[in-house]
Amino acid sequence: MGPPGAGKGTQARRLVQHLGIAHLSTGDILRQAVREQTDAGRMAQRYMAGGQLVPSTIVVEMVDERLNQPDCAAGILLDGFPRSLGQAQALDGILARRGTALDAVLELQVSDAEVTRRLTLRGREDDRDRVIARRLESYQGEMRPLLDYYHARGLVETIDGSGSEDQVFDRIQAALERRGGAEERKRAW
Ligand code: ADP
Repeated sequence: MGPPGAGKGTQARRLVQHLGIAHLSTGDILRQAVREQTDAGRMAQRYMAGGQLVPSTIVVEMVDERLNQPDCAAGILLDGFPRSLGQAQALDGILARRGTALDAVLELQVSDAEVTRRLTLRGREDDRDRVIARRLESYQGEMRPLLDYYHARGLVETIDGSGSEDQVFDRIQAALERRGGAEERKRAW
């Protein structure tokens, strides 16, 4: 988890490569479904176009289906999911049915000032200060209950997202090593 501009996508790509696990990005899955104009893709399309969250029933079913693909057997990194308490509970059910559970929740922490600076550097027309502030606010509103939910289970690793890509990646690896499991899974794989 991390606000827009936290470097979540970059770190996710590095981590899945490092661990040899599957990258499960609901944004990517949804965009592909839209491109292919599947039933779910057609339903999702109008929400995405309006900048709204896609209804959870659609997203949860897509995640569940994606988990059937063989590359997921080595482990998964969820990116962009869950985004609500309802999705988190659905995910618990999906994983429990498969006899597994989350190992960790990585929270990339970057100050509002730094995120605003990074998004402004990207220079997109829609990334003016006011719009950025609104995106950060809606992110906080979305994530706080989720973080509380995972904190209560001791799953959250908060990572300092400032500095270079390499520095942040080192911190992520160190957090996972402290927790154990990730490296063992990599060796087993
Ligand atoms: P963003 O960070 O801009 O939301 P994403 O690539 O994560 O980008 O997602 C793109 C769009 O896909 C979102 O705006 C939303 O409409 C939809 N989406 C992605 N993940 C979810 C999710 N877990 N629940 C509901 N909608 C989602």
